[in-house]
Amino acid sequence: MTILRASVAVPRPVRRLFTYSIPPALAPRCRPGVRVVVPFGRHKLTGYLLSLMEGEQPGSSPKSLRPIEQVLDPEPVLDGTILEVVRFAADYYVASLGEMIRCALPGMKAQVRRVVSVTERGRRALEAGGGVLVDASLPRIASDPRGREILGVVAEFNSGRGAAIRLDDLRRRVGPRFTTRTLENLRAAGFLEVAEVAATAGPRPRLEEEAVLVAHDVTAAGAKGARRRRLLELLGEAGGRRSVPGLLRDSGASRSVLRALETLGLIAIESREALRRPASFELPLQTPATLRPTSAQKAAIDAIAGALSTRSFTTFLLHGVTGSGKTEVYLRAIETAIRSGRKALYLVPEIGLTPLLARRMRSRFGEVLGLLHSGLSDGERYDEWRRIRNGRVEVVLGARSAVFAPIPDLGLVIVDEEHDTSYKQDEHPRYNGRDLAIMRAKMSRAVVVLGSATPSMETYVQAERGRYRMLALPGRIGPAGLPRVERIDMRREFEEVGRESVLSRRLLSALEERLRRGEQSLILLNRRGFSTFVLCRSCGEPIQCRNCSIPMTWHLRHRRLRCHYCDDTREQPVTCPACGSSHLYYGGTGTERLETILRTVLPTARVQRLDKDTARGRGSVEEMLTRVERGEIDILLGTQMIAKGHDFPNVTLVGVLAADALLGLPDFRAGERAFQLLAQVAGRSGRGDREGEVIVQAYDADHHAIRFACEHDFAGFAARELAYRRAMNYPPYAALAAILVRDRVFDRARARAEEVGLILRGRSERSLQVLGPAPAPLERLRGEYRVQLLIKAAGRKELRNALGRMLHELEGRKVRSESLAIDVDPMTTL
Ligand code: ADP
Ligand code: ZN
Ligand code: ZN
Repeated sequence: MTILRASVAVPRPVRRLFTYSIPPALAPRCRPGVRVVVPFGRHKLTGYLLSLMEGEQPGSSPKSLRPIEQVLDPEPVLDGTILEVVRFAADYYVASLGEMIRCALPGMKAQVRRVVSVTERGRRALEAGGGVLVDASLPRIASDPRGREILGVVAEFNSGRGAAIRLDDLRRRVGPRFTTRTLENLRAAGFLEVAEVAATAGPRPRLEEEAVLVAHDVTAAGAKGARRRRLLELLGEAGGRRSVPGLLRDSGASRSVLRALETLGLIAIESREALRRPASFELPLQTPATLRPTSAQKAAIDAIAGALSTRSFTTFLLHGVTGSGKTEVYLRAIETAIRSGRKALYLVPEIGLTPLLARRMRSRFGEVLGLLHSGLSDGERYDEWRRIRNGRVEVVLGARSAVFAPIPDLGLVIVDEEHDTSYKQDEHPRYNGRDLAIMRAKMSRAVVVLGSATPSMETYVQAERGRYRMLALPGRIGPAGLPRVERIDMRREFEEVGRESVLSRRLLSALEERLRRGEQSLILLNRRGFSTFVLCRSCGEPIQCRNCSIPMTWHLRHRRLRCHYCDDTREQPVTCPACGSSHLYYGGTGTERLETILRTVLPTARVQRLDKDTARGRGSVEEMLTRVERGEIDILLGTQMIAKGHDFPNVTLVGVLAADALLGLPDFRAGERAFQLLAQVAGRSGRGDREGEVIVQAYDADHHAIRFACEHDFAGFAARELAYRRAMNYPPYAALAAILVRDRVFDRARARAEEVGLILRGRSERSLQVLGPAPAPLERLRGEYRVQLLIKAAGRKELRNALGRMLHELEGRKVRSESLAIDVDPMTTL
């Protein structure tokens, strides 16, 4: 007997595929590339069917295979091109294929629901008990009052509704006293059962009913009655075909009228797919301005067009200062690609922060524009994804994960702000969308354009070595040129004024001047909240987060302390948690306090704050930016969100507060990040006809990153930074990976990290350098200690081999690789 089996990738950190049997009923729909629901351990997962196998499986009885439970797609969602990119990515970033495929298909996931019910044994234990569960065989349950509480809630729900309770429901009803550990103990003791049910298959096409006119003679016998006639008339006016809800609404007819006409054979009801379009497609369109490219722009456009015409893989670095007109170069390049019959992908760091670009793209490309980003609903994304795959989209505008979009015949890839850290996914699997974009372009023999005013050191070195072709836009489009930058030493300011001040006299008078002239200002302060720390005056301890080794921030509006790393909050303390003293000092200024200060010292100014706290809710960022664009805001203050690619010609002043704080925690990229942010925010000033000004305040403004940024000296910064990287053997001169070991118990994390270190050192070649284990700069995060190892290798191949060997050895020792976070090409080592 031949048995059909399937090889399935699951989104779990196990680096192999799993074999499942195929029940006969599902066999016709089991095709390579479809998503399937499979049992995995005690759970159900959405897996990806990669291949089918016939015949006996050698060495194992077919009975032992578990069956595929559900097939989710009528047609494969994974094609060869996507699989090729995903395979490369999984290998490179040492992730499992299933995990990488999940990244490639965001939102496309069956919803599996966990439900809980009480067992007979659990019910008996409840009835017998007084305050505790007397029948408990596990001492942990007997002594845990929460066990009884959880069991009680489940039992009450089960008998009241005659059904199992959903886990999220249970969690809500029990409240903060719910813990997963107690639930797990109850299950282990046999008091509860936790089951999984596949609820829905995830997004599917949305269908809409349409009425179609069949008979031509609508005055015929059937068409009696005013409403029937009205309905048929409207249908005729619409060209004989219209969607049912609208038709019913306008004709005032009910469904029964519709059905009667259908029975008479006068109309037919058909089901048709109605595409869900992203909300930004409904924005009012602007008429695209026709710009005459400058000679620098033209040279860049021609070079890209030349590479497109040869259909060979080429990587360009478009290095243009802020306001040099890079966007126009991208758009022209995209038009060229489309004219030659190929498609384009345009990646941006965060579409949410550049809504005006989406609008501009829509005006320029209309229906053939596809949008992919995390702001879409699952349904919208699914529909966009299918439009793209069906070849109805010529250019895709998207964020990081759009690098996996199923674009047929890809000819051009744009990576705007290529240096931006948001291209790197900050959770497992930690892939970099920019680097995968280059790989993808190589596979499709496409042209890549990496654009930035402040290229990453990696990209810059490749351009210097001639591996990437350099295209330079050295000057601004506007007549005024780059803005003047002035540094203010806040220590001197303190001496001269005699007190701490948030705004220097110079910055304050510059703001006043802008108000008088009716021009706009931006102020960057990259810390949100009101007070950035609360300190005890008696013992000197800041109030730390319970879960992280980080001081908490005071938020006035919510009157709570908040941790910006794990989001935990606590009430305003009356006394110091460490020593009990009541002398607490609120120090450090965040954006929330800055906003209050601005409103006090400049009462006539229209002030808007843009940070994560004010940006909640769909469309709120877009609304704020639109108001700035319309001139309804005089001063926009905020975190790095205000620095991203915005083009406001009436902004002539940019202020930066606490520039030295931009250097943050120690990390080998701290200087590069500070330089980039400063250069980017400074670049928002003076983009129109009037000259711009930038005022940078710092207590210690001598760091080379701050100095070079203030002098608009990218080359100077790069030379200095690269010398440091070379001396320290950091990227781009070495391939780097960080391995983070996390555990609630420090010693356990430390011991495991040491084991990993031994493995790496034991077999390593001389070209491999292993640093650590050492506590990460952020030693504790979300309740877990973090111990880190850094591996530096001469090349990426050596690095990958070393990691592969390490994982192999760990698997042999049964060390669960989930507890290791491996970050290849890390953006931070915090
Ligand atoms: P960058 O991305 O390099 O910072 P943008 O692409 O935002 O710069 O362009 C800056 C401004 O210059 C925009 O307002 C844009 O419309 C304008 N611009 C770009 N190219 C031209 C051109 N050839 N002629 C006139 N204005 C232009
Ligand atoms: Zn925290
Ligand atoms: Zn104290």
